[in-house]
Amino acid sequence: MRFIADLHIHSKYSRATSKEMVLEEIDRWADDKGILVMGTGDFTHPVWFKEIKEKLEPAEAGLFKLKSQYKKKTLKGNLSETRFLLTSEISSIYSKVSAETGEKNVHRIHNLVFAPDIETIESIITQLSLIGNLKSDGRPILGLDAEELARIVFNVNPEAVIIPAHAWTPWFSVFGSMSGFDSLEECFGKQAKHIFAIETGLSSDPAMNWRLSKLDNISFISNSDCHSLQKIGREANIFDTELSYSGIIDAIRNGIPNQHKSAQNQHKSAFIATIEFFPEEGKYHYDGHRNCDVVFAPEETKKHKNICPKCGKKLTIGVMNRVDELADRGVDYKDDKRVPYYSLIPLDEIIAESFGLVGTKTKKVVEEYNNLIKSLGSELKILLEVNEEEIKLFADPRVAEGIKRVRNGQVKIHPGFDGEYGKIKIFGEKEREKLES
Ligand SMILES: [Zn+2]
Ligand SMILES: [Zn+2]
Repeated sequence: MRFIADLHIHSKYSRATSKEMVLEEIDRWADDKGILVMGTGDFTHPVWFKEIKEKLEPAEAGLFKLKSQYKKKTLKGNLSETRFLLTSEISSIYSKVSAETGEKNVHRIHNLVFAPDIETIESIITQLSLIGNLKSDGRPILGLDAEELARIVFNVNPEAVIIPAHAWTPWFSVFGSMSGFDSLEECFGKQAKHIFAIETGLSSDPAMNWRLSKLDNISFISNSDCHSLQKIGREANIFDTELSYSGIIDAIRNGIPNQHKSAQNQHKSAFIATIEFFPEEGKYHYDGHRNCDVVFAPEETKKHKNICPKCGKKLTIGVMNRVDELADRGVDYKDDKRVPYYSLIPLDEIIAESFGLVGTKTKKVVEEYNNLIKSLGSELKILLEVNEEEIKLFADPRVAEGIKRVRNGQVKIHPGFDGEYGKIKIFGEKEREKLES
């Protein structure tokens, strides 16, 4: 069956995460967003894990659902069919001597861990709790080499999966400009052969990743990494596969273009597409210094020799620059065998921009958002599927036009940099007034 999955989120037990990130709310919000399978996030956190065990019950193989006594109605007034897959994110901070240069470098890397059952998690928790504190943060920080993390996880259960999270962000990722590696092999050593996917993150899209031939045997997934309910599904994966843990993992593996697949498996488990931000909207697309208000495209950074002209310190090198550094193919490189993707902007942001408002939490935006979900289905259905005429029946004319423009890629974005999200422009002031009258 065809469905959408968001496999990287955080619970209220993670730092800087909304108190509303609880299973009851995630369950119904996923439905309004158009997501069938959600990651649980944070399974290494003891209290969250207890809630997972209490409130979820087994559904299809390797998937779980919220027990009926905890269900709350969605915006549309129904009960959701949301499934949960057991996921967590581990932050590893450690130093390692490079085999190539002999230098000792500090690395900061985030990895996603997926597991097919509760027993696997219990065993992973037991081992990781010997290494560091799992209680202080839903995304624990461990002084654990990523290769060793992989060894522990695969020893517990070879069906478990490790996927480097937001693989390009400068400070905390496998390829990050500030503390990452130049290849998966350098990072994962002997375990590298078991790493078959990376998460592209908000600041890069699949096409940027296609430029590295060393990732030709790697599948690219996309998830929201959300810290609040509103951001569920802002990036996600569309699969056509059996609704089960192994169905989803097979589909991800089948996102590798050269993957040898039996005709039967290929038919059963397809990776249809990913749903993406425009990468310019991500927080680390360009280079710069937020406090100095300096934002540079990679060429300008090069001209300034990576130094901030305001404060004289090293600039935070963003994702576009870093991809360019490691890529061996040009910016226009295309690969038809790759999983295609949709570039979208979240509906509440389209509504805010269409009304000329700054925040997405204003009453007017929330009212229009709720109205559209109630009349047209889910957010991703509205952004991807519902036809223009039908949208026009229910949406403010400016919002209907905004959705159309996003679908056509007619947006202007001031790229994000050094932790600051990019800023979207869909309309000029005059255009908006015209649509209003
Ligand atoms: Zn992370
Ligand atoms: Zn500066």
